[in-house]
Amino acid sequence: MDEEKYKARAERMITRWAGQRITVNRETTDEGDVMRHAPPALGEFSEQGGLYIEPAKALPILAECEVLVVGGGPSGLAAALAARRAGADTILLERFGCFGGVITTVGMETLAWYRYEGTVESEGIGVEMERRAAQMGGAIKWPYNDSQCLDADFFKVVADHLVREAGIRPILHCLAVDVIFDGDSQRLKGIVTESKSGRQVILANRIIDCTGDADIAHLAGASYRKTPKDKMLGVTTVFNASGVDKARFLQYTEEQPATYADWSRTWDQETTGKEDVLRSPYLDKEFDEARRLGVIPQNTTNLGGSWSALTEAGEATNLNLAHQNGIDCTDVMDLTKAEMQGRQEALYALMALKKVVPGFENAKLRNFGMTLGTRDSRKIIGRYNLTGDDVRNQAKFEDSVGIFPEFIDGYNVLILPSTGRYFEVPYGCMVPLEVDNLLVAGRCVAGDMVSHAAMRNMMACTVTGQGAGVAAAVSLQQQTTTANVDIALVQAELARQGVRLH
Ligand SMILES: Cc1cc2nc3c(=O)[nH]c(=O)nc-3n(C[C@H](O)[C@H](O)[C@H](O)COP(=O)(O)OP(=O)(O)OC[C@H]3O[C@@H](n4cnc5c(N)ncnc54)[C@H](O)[C@@H]3O)c2cc1C
Repeated sequence: MDEEKYKARAERMITRWAGQRITVNRETTDEGDVMRHAPPALGEFSEQGGLYIEPAKALPILAECEVLVVGGGPSGLAAALAARRAGADTILLERFGCFGGVITTVGMETLAWYRYEGTVESEGIGVEMERRAAQMGGAIKWPYNDSQCLDADFFKVVADHLVREAGIRPILHCLAVDVIFDGDSQRLKGIVTESKSGRQVILANRIIDCTGDADIAHLAGASYRKTPKDKMLGVTTVFNASGVDKARFLQYTEEQPATYADWSRTWDQETTGKEDVLRSPYLDKEFDEARRLGVIPQNTTNLGGSWSALTEAGEATNLNLAHQNGIDCTDVMDLTKAEMQGRQEALYALMALKKVVPGFENAKLRNFGMTLGTRDSRKIIGRYNLTGDDVRNQAKFEDSVGIFPEFIDGYNVLILPSTGRYFEVPYGCMVPLEVDNLLVAGRCVAGDMVSHAAMRNMMACTVTGQGAGVAAAVSLQQQTTTANVDIALVQAELARQGVRLH
């Protein structure tokens, strides 16, 4: 072996012992062989320990566009559709292999279950998505009102159709991991991604953060708040069962009717009173009975919640029954713990149902949601921070981008909008303070805990998504930034798209 080769091998051995990861540059030959062609740059560990300093690296540009929407959930779909319909060349980027967010990846089908008689509904892309799913045969009526349970798997196809028809440029299996500023300004001009293709760059004139966790705002250094861990809304492992005798189960729910008063049986819940008499697809005391019978461990205290669609094929989907508290979903070790524990808890829930709930005797696990369901994480500090008072007192805003009914579900408050009351959603709650050409839509918009219990709902996420998509496109047409966009022009385009603003 010549001296050069020997030295290179010795260097590789030393860096491997030091725990350093070496990036290798490669070249593809005409025959398709991938050949190493240059030695990699080496990083180093910080003197204090605990940090590895990555070497600088040149990244290929994957794509360029006018509006980049990061995250393909209810808010991201609405944002991309709205931006495209307003004329912008739009990319919708998603870390998983499908669009739909919590609908398709967690298995939550109930986009508008709050829609009891008397509700004044938001109008726009959210309702359009619900109708479209029903038209395509991918929805079943929710048990106790006229809203639809979206078939979670089928919604992947509904979303594909919406994206394709609109001419949105889709990118799946791609995680946003960093941001790029325009020189030393406060304006964003791109992101860094990671995927099977490696680390790449997407350049965009406007970016809309629809990651649910405000990942982009966080990476850009914008201010945000997180609910203290002990008060955070719980995470849930949603699962689906097959082998359910639908008729027997429905008979049981008629004999043992649950209402929203039952929700508060085990905790102190505030309602306005009208909720307490409304029927609810709720199971909870059944788990007490299973514990009493010794079917499941005594420490399984966080079981209970809603069932949703029942199919003629004997499936019970969207079983929202196995929860955990004290989990921070921006912490990878918390996520790991909760995914594994959640699967165990969901199996306990199914064991209990099989033993004590008529119709479930022969049920079996069909599948878990693709991922754990997060309700609560980062919320930006915005130009305007929505409050519980705004939601409860029919707030009006000059910069309204849509309305949402007075529906609050979280932090021990349950208010259903059967009174016809609603509030306006301000543009300001999507505008981060320190970073420009970035808008934040969906569950991570600015606001306090009670307003989050309203704004986190999927239909509300589509309201902010559509507002952000239109604002991004209009700011481009006006050649201004998202912080300075003329709200009257944004509202005019939203009205043209069928959104109710006041
Ligand atoms: C168990 C559970 C039950 C719920 N029940 C209901 C209900 O009955 N009705 C209701 O209206 N709401 C319900 N919610 C709330 C609602 O589903 C969510 O708040 C809502 O989906 C949030 O929408 P979003 O678009 O902001 O985010 P998400 O739906 O979370 O979508 C975010 C998307 O961004 C992607 N993403 C995240 N980070 C990155 C990144 N860095 N790069 C690329 N992609 C990324 C994610 O994969 C995801 O697809 C429930 C939530 C949970 C967890």
